[in-house]
Amino acid sequence: MTKRRSFDEVYPVKDHYQRFNQGNTAFLRAEKAGHRGYDDVTKKLERMRKEIPGFSLIDYAFRDGALTVAMASRSGRGIIDSGFYSWSPLGVTSKPEDMPRWEAAPERAARVMYKAGRYYGAADIGFCELDKRWVYSHTADGRLIVFEDVERGYVTDEKAVIPKSHRWVIAITVPMEVEEMMYAPAALNPVSSMGYSRMPVVAGSLAEFIRGLGYNAIPCGNDTAISVPIAIQAGLGHVGRHGRLITWRDGPMVRIAKIFTDLPLATSPQAPRGIIEFCDVCHKCAKHCPSQSIPDGPRRYEGYSEANNPGVLKWYCNADSCLEHWRESGSSCGICFRVCSFTKPESVLHDIVKWFIRNVPQLNRLWVWTDNLMGYGRMRNPRDYWEDSPEGVCLT
Ligand code: SF4
Ligand code: SF4
Repeated sequence: MTKRRSFDEVYPVKDHYQRFNQGNTAFLRAEKAGHRGYDDVTKKLERMRKEIPGFSLIDYAFRDGALTVAMASRSGRGIIDSGFYSWSPLGVTSKPEDMPRWEAAPERAARVMYKAGRYYGAADIGFCELDKRWVYSHTADGRLIVFEDVERGYVTDEKAVIPKSHRWVIAITVPMEVEEMMYAPAALNPVSSMGYSRMPVVAGSLAEFIRGLGYNAIPCGNDTAISVPIAIQAGLGHVGRHGRLITWRDGPMVRIAKIFTDLPLATSPQAPRGIIEFCDVCHKCAKHCPSQSIPDGPRRYEGYSEANNPGVLKWYCNADSCLEHWRESGSSCGICFRVCSFTKPESVLHDIVKWFIRNVPQLNRLWVWTDNLMGYGRMRNPRDYWEDSPEGVCLT
């Protein structure tokens, strides 16, 4: 029988833990310090001209094309109340005023949200009660995030107000492709960008669906709250050594969006245990990280800089040195995703191994050894990507 531990057991938090200021994320700290972005145009041009494999014009264009929905809909990374992440109804669905709002038991409401969210494109969906600790203290541009007795959330120049009635959170994962991730750290790898485009489609559509039922919804991407602890609380997975969410279904190959709502929802059980225990003996991401940003030792309560929020027992990724490496290498790296032992295509064999990881942790070292022996997570040659014909397309 697979064992589950409580959230407090898998993600212990000190009493003095304080809400994190989104302005302290590594990206925003670097911006404030005047550092150039990792996608520096001059360096990009240099790489293209030198025809470095994986950094050619076609590779960059492919990666950036994947970001189209996120950017063109203004639902980009980390911006509150914008595009499909609008805190106000988009007016796509509308419940007639004379129609009473939809009523359902929390269990049924959760089932309906799961089914609709999966249809809109989610890989998985979980539900939890809102834990204010994970809500940012301030937005990326310095506005306070507060909770008030109002019906609908709103954002002004000074503050973002989450209604106290929004007691439930829908945590959503969207998929990232294992195949394309195998080209990391080349710029050829579009999976993060595609994830950022999928997040607002699913979260925005589901929020609008909720509004059409007569309830309120605040959809968010990387903004408003820290995604990983919410996803853990909603039973989607656990945090790995590289600091990313690892799910039993897709490993770390997901991005996370969330919706705060006043629609009462049954909460999800915690994900089965076994991921943290596996990371305890694996170390593969720490070994391969080119900037040594991933710790090789045990979990601890302290981070590296202001970019990490202390007070949680976990592996802290050094977000500053990671980002510095991105700047030097000219790509968003992704090696830790590529090499992660949980990054695997779907197969019965991998499902069997996962069963053993959950139930017979004594064998974990054997799986780590086997993973290395099989050469999983090796970078593919970017020159090959465009030569492989897509399935079903005849080019002769
Ligand atoms: S993205 Fe690259 S540099 Fe950053 S933590 Fe992962 S492996 Fe290290
Ligand atoms: S590579 Fe290994 S140690 Fe690192 S997150 Fe994945 S499973 Fe955990």
